[in-house]
Amino acid sequence: MLIIKNATVVNFSPPEVHRGWDLVIDNGMIAAAGPGASEGLKADEVWDLNGDIVHPGLVCSHNHFYSGLSRGILADINPSPDFISILKNLWWRLDRAIDKDILKSSALICSLDAIRNGTTAVIDHHSSPSFIEGSLSVMKQSFEQTGLRGMSCYETSDRNGMSEMEAGVAENVRMAHEIDKEKEAGKWSGLYEAHIGGHAPFTIPESGMKMLKDAIDATGRGIHIHVAEDKYDAAHSHHHYDEDLLVRMDRHGLLNSKSLIAHGLYLSEKERNILDERNSFLVVNFRSNMNNNVGAQQHLGGIKNAALGTDGIGSDMWEEFKFAYFKHKDTGGPLWPGDFLNFLHNGNTLLERNFDSRFGRIEKGFKADLVVSDYRNPTPLKGENIAGHMAFGQSAGSVRSVVIDGKVVMKDRKFPFDEKEIYAEARENAARLWENMNKLDDSK
Ligand SMILES: [Zn+2]
Repeated sequence: MLIIKNATVVNFSPPEVHRGWDLVIDNGMIAAAGPGASEGLKADEVWDLNGDIVHPGLVCSHNHFYSGLSRGILADINPSPDFISILKNLWWRLDRAIDKDILKSSALICSLDAIRNGTTAVIDHHSSPSFIEGSLSVMKQSFEQTGLRGMSCYETSDRNGMSEMEAGVAENVRMAHEIDKEKEAGKWSGLYEAHIGGHAPFTIPESGMKMLKDAIDATGRGIHIHVAEDKYDAAHSHHHYDEDLLVRMDRHGLLNSKSLIAHGLYLSEKERNILDERNSFLVVNFRSNMNNNVGAQQHLGGIKNAALGTDGIGSDMWEEFKFAYFKHKDTGGPLWPGDFLNFLHNGNTLLERNFDSRFGRIEKGFKADLVVSDYRNPTPLKGENIAGHMAFGQSAGSVRSVVIDGKVVMKDRKFPFDEKEIYAEARENAARLWENMNKLDDSK
């Protein structure tokens, strides 16, 4: 049991601030929260926060831990005038250059990065065509080793041939069944769950869509896929299938309340209606869209379920929240910081749909995924202006300690293990990854 005394509790949705609360954390859950909630109780560990803030952990709803070693990349990359060139020259070479050791390093440093930024759950989307079978086990181990909550899936694609597409679907099914077996045996960590992954409709032929539907039916999991990240995806669908992207996916029965659609910049009104009717999620990634010059999401306000992701640009959701809001404003958008705080909070709904628990509030009965922050508000902090503090001041620099599933995974900015060796190994593996990329045939 962990007791946190004298905390200023900040909940994001509905937004509220409570001063002088105690929290009791037991068995992975918030067992009690409120003034005097810890009275008479004895705990293994007691923190007196002296008024410092506790808020729910942040959720990154779309990420790529396989790209973690691309930061500062020094490899021969041809000029890439459009989105498809960026994929071919950079990301589809990088993912083919990944082996087991490189992936392990990449996933570990991404997990640590998430925790350090107060992100307690990450929904990942994975690709490593030279190391498919077993790749999701490496992801799972990294989450469990660091104590991070999250999900991953293998991004099924025919871009390197049909046998690879089949292997991708098989890896998704294998991992979902592995988790099911752990659950049946009472050995599941509770930290890691599975999606069924697809790269994007333009690299998934009809046979692949059918295989994904079969995998969803066999596992009870939802699809996680890029859709309409660039105009090309929408145009490809119109050219080859004479259908809008989500009309095509819906024809294959791929959309339901567990579906996660990443980007969706070029969805028609009809497609947005389908998305809402199926109660599926749209996850937007403003920084990544800016980086790839693919445009900015223009329909966020009208979407029923929307959340924020980084698409591989780290797991600092404070930064992503700010970029998303400011880019929206920069393009003349009507929404306010409070709307974007709701999108950020909605990542918890994604977790609830996949983990069968309650997430995203400091309240009795919710999972104990939380952050202790030393943010010093120079102006009054109230429920009504939490989002304003986040957009114009508070940052990941205020994150002091992180608890996930009731376990302390970072305390006073220190991990419960020496992380220096993990980073040293990552630097070696990054150099090897970049060399591997230079050796790859560019014609693919
Ligand atoms: Zn992505």
